[in-house]
Amino acid sequence: MRTGKEYLDSLKDGRTVLVDGKAVEDVTEHPAFNRAAKTMAELFDLAADPNNNMQAHAEEIDGLANRVFMAPRSSEELKLRRQAIECWAKHTHGWVGRSPDHVGTFFSCFGTHLEVFNTENGDFSENMRNYYKRILSENLYVSYAIIPPQVSRATTASGWEGDYLQVGVVRETEEGLIVRGSQMLATGGAIADEVFITCIKPLGPDDVDFAISFALPISTDGLKLYCRRPYAPAATSEFDYPLTTRYDEPDSLVVFDDVLVPWDRVFINRDIAALRSQFFDTGAHVLGNWQAQIRFSTKLKFIAGVARKVTQVNGTDKIPGVQEKLGELAALISGVESGVLAAEYTAEPDAAGVIIPGKRALYGAMGLQAETYPRVITILRDLVGGGVLQLPSSVTDMVSEVTKGDLEHYIQSPGVSSEERVKLFKLAWDIIGSEFSGRHQQYEMFYAGAPFVVKGAYTYRNFGYEEFVAELDDFLSQYNVHGKKE
Ligand SMILES: Cc1cc2nc3c(=O)[nH]c(=O)nc-3n(C[C@H](O)[C@H](O)[C@H](O)COP(=O)(O)OP(=O)(O)OC[C@H]3O[C@@H](n4cnc5c(N)ncnc54)[C@H](O)[C@@H]3O)c2cc1C
Repeated sequence: MRTGKEYLDSLKDGRTVLVDGKAVEDVTEHPAFNRAAKTMAELFDLAADPNNNMQAHAEEIDGLANRVFMAPRSSEELKLRRQAIECWAKHTHGWVGRSPDHVGTFFSCFGTHLEVFNTENGDFSENMRNYYKRILSENLYVSYAIIPPQVSRATTASGWEGDYLQVGVVRETEEGLIVRGSQMLATGGAIADEVFITCIKPLGPDDVDFAISFALPISTDGLKLYCRRPYAPAATSEFDYPLTTRYDEPDSLVVFDDVLVPWDRVFINRDIAALRSQFFDTGAHVLGNWQAQIRFSTKLKFIAGVARKVTQVNGTDKIPGVQEKLGELAALISGVESGVLAAEYTAEPDAAGVIIPGKRALYGAMGLQAETYPRVITILRDLVGGGVLQLPSSVTDMVSEVTKGDLEHYIQSPGVSSEERVKLFKLAWDIIGSEFSGRHQQYEMFYAGAPFVVKGAYTYRNFGYEEFVAELDDFLSQYNVHGKKE
């Protein structure tokens, strides 16, 4: 199985990653990406270690593969899959949203529902079969950009001024499709092997040129990644910014300058209905978002640990009002964990025999995520008070002869050394106040779609209101103005 070193070596491939007006020569060396890439390498090493039980036999390749890329075919396999996802999530404490298991999970459903890629505009099912086999056998790290760029949400791309702002087909050649345009927002793209491009937002009949689905290596000619401001380079040290330094996964706008997508990399070509089917008729949206909730739950439990420890250090944990706040935090977090486990408990096989987690539980937890996460952060913000600012300017103050004496004396708590206290509160700041933390708030609120989409399209539609309305109708039918019906 692919090791972390092999993954890091493979990133030196001439990819076009743009930061501060120029192309990055080597993402494994650049301060914006090297630590995040190292974190991903650690994940590959964890998967390669048989002691972590992340490997299993995959029938599609008749060989060993990473469970996080495999389609579960029994309840036991679903549970083992969750445990494998947890193994990775615990390593990053949930602070890496787009580890390779995220998009890889979507492909485990695409690759087992090939019929969806046999479309009216071409049969691309063999392409998907072969691509999925590559993910399994090569442990590919695929990122994705499946949202049209934010230009105007008043119309879809066909209504925008300016050609090909969203990525679309310019022409077909014997070799494949020539695509031009952009797509948001490939988290992890700069340090991934490949990027999957498609569109999950509904398109109109005039948008057919944008109704495509394909995957390409990041190093493809003409493919460019425009990264947001990276936070890791400005982080003074691991001690000052323990999360920013390790987990600043890059987000980027993906731009295609008349890029050739070879035919064997095309999964859907100009087919609006097939775009929806790939996500919603294969189980991919459910299993993929279940992975995301497992990761989210892991992160929330890490934050719970920080909150509890802060109250211990500050001596506030015996105060009933503080215990109530910790209780609210516990309720929010156990609600998410329960959603994950309830989705597993209510999972059922689909027509292809793939076990798909229960939608009511999954989309129920997701529906509140845009409120749960900010509330969790607000509670932690409340509990830490000004302690996150009563801190040395950097770790240098802690070792300088000029400053360390005062800091050791004044910044401490009963039974807690200055170093321990500062460490804890600097971590808390990286959760609630750093630029990295702000990006995380945005991530948790938006990664699965804007809240109006998650609640309106996923939670509402998958709750199963019909069942309860039928029950209610039965109840209402039992009496009328004349009393109880016989
Ligand atoms: C940190 C981060 C990482 C991301 N990583 C990825 C990634 O790896 N891959 C990927 O494909 N995408 C990624 N995304 C993009 C994400 O999928 C989108 O942000 C999400 O789908 C919402 O789309 P949008 O940002 O264009 O918001 P919009 O759809 O423009 O919505 C923004 C707001 O406008 C309002 N609004 C807009 N339209 C309507 C409407 N019709 N009805 C009611 N209100 C409306 C709502 O208030 C809404 O919250 C990421 C986003 C973030 C923030």
